[in-house]
Order: sequence, then C-alpha cells, then structure tokens
Amino acid sequence: MTAFSRLGGTIAGRIRQIRETLPPTVRLIAVTKQVSIAAMREAYEAGIRDFGESRIQEAETKQAQLHDLSDITWHLIGHLQTNKAQRALEQFQWIHSVDSLKLAQRLDRLAVGLSHKPQICLQVKFLPDPTKYGWTVEELITDLPQLDQCENLSIQGLMTIPPAGLSETELRALFEQARLLTQAIQQEQSCSRLALNELSMGMSGDYRTAVEAGATMVRLGRILFGDRAT
Ligand SMILES: *Cc1c(COP(=O)(O)O)cnc(C)c1O
Repeated sequence: MTAFSRLGGTIAGRIRQIRETLPPTVRLIAVTKQVSIAAMREAYEAGIRDFGESRIQEAETKQAQLHDLSDITWHLIGHLQTNKAQRALEQFQWIHSVDSLKLAQRLDRLAVGLSHKPQICLQVKFLPDPTKYGWTVEELITDLPQLDQCENLSIQGLMTIPPAGLSETELRALFEQARLLTQAIQQEQSCSRLALNELSMGMSGDYRTAVEAGATMVRLGRILFGDRAT
C-alpha cells in the first residue's frame, strides 16, 4: 500500500513516464478522489483531459473550481445510488460504475431528451467479492436483452475491479476473461445495440497487466498523485 508514498518527480513527470508505456489508443483516466485542485491543474497542464471521481458531491465541488477548463471529460467510477442518477447525468459524460439493471433503466429513463447520450460501462465481478458492486457474469448475461433496450444510453463496454490479493497469473486470467466476455457479447446478434468496444480496467497496482490483456481505459490514482489518506 505504501509503494507509491515516496513517488519521485513531479505529477507531470509521472504522467509522461506512464504515457510512454501505454499504447496510444489507451485512455488514461486520472483518478482524483481526495486530490487537491492544484494537483488536478498540474495534471491538466500535463495533458490529462479525463478525470475520474468516485463521489458526486466531491466532483461537483471540483467541477465548480475547475470551471475554466472546459474540455475536461468527467468519469464517474464509484457506486451510484439510484436517487443520485439525475445528478450523475448532469455532471459526468461517462459512468463506469453502472452495476445493476435497475440503475441502468433509471439512467435510461432520465436520459430521454439529453443532447448527448451518456457513455456507460457495465461493472462486472469475475470473482466473488462481497466488498464490490457489479453483475456476476451469469447475472449480466441474463440482463443483456433488457440492457440492449436502453436506447437512450450508449453502453460502451465493461468495467471491472479485481478483488485484492490476486497473483499476477490470476489477475491476467481475470482481465482476459473480461476481454473474452466483451467479444462474446459483441457477437451476440440479439444484442445489436451493445457495442462494448471499451474495457475499463487497470489501476495503479495492476494496469500493466490490464493493458496487456486489452484494457482500453486505465484508471490511475495513487501512481500519479501519491497515496490517499484512506
Ligand atoms: C480509487 C479508484 C481507482 C484508482 O485506484 P489507484 O489504486 O489509486 O490507482 C480506480 N478505479 C476505481 C473504481 C477507484 O475507486
């Protein structure tokens, strides 16, 4: 956990170093929960345009303070309660953490008449993990036809967070399973609306493995900004 607490260099330097190792097609999302506005501006200066936040309220405060940076794309990556769905749609272009059919259908109803479709990832658990939200693979397959009916959403891909403590081999297997599942869903004729070209996976501790397995979006916090308080 403390591996990143003595990060060398500047935020800009770390962003540059990580970018050099990422394929150009992989989107680097800077996860800025508990990160200061000054540090976020530094990341912006270094070219970051995708910011990830876990909480609606924290994001709202920061968005007001960063109002002058109008080309930021905001990504919600934390669990969303259905009663905050409207606010989430107003504040975020991407929601990675859609984790139930009920939430997807609520977002779909609320998105009627928006000028742009919300970009959505479906959060999936490939291993049992009581600390995380998300569909199991079996549950997702059951819900796919109804998700395909959510015509006001642009369902772009899958998101996953592996349970803590997996070996390198287990991580690789999990990420590959995510890629295979997106491919299987793409080939499913009955779900024609679901494009699922995106794989949102990979955090500070495992992003290299995730990218090797086919991640298209990595969500990096500590490796850019240092350890969080909690
Ligand atoms: C906090 C968080 C991250 C970033 O994790 P780091 O280990 O700081 O890179 C990524 N994804 C989600 C869903 C998170 O909550």
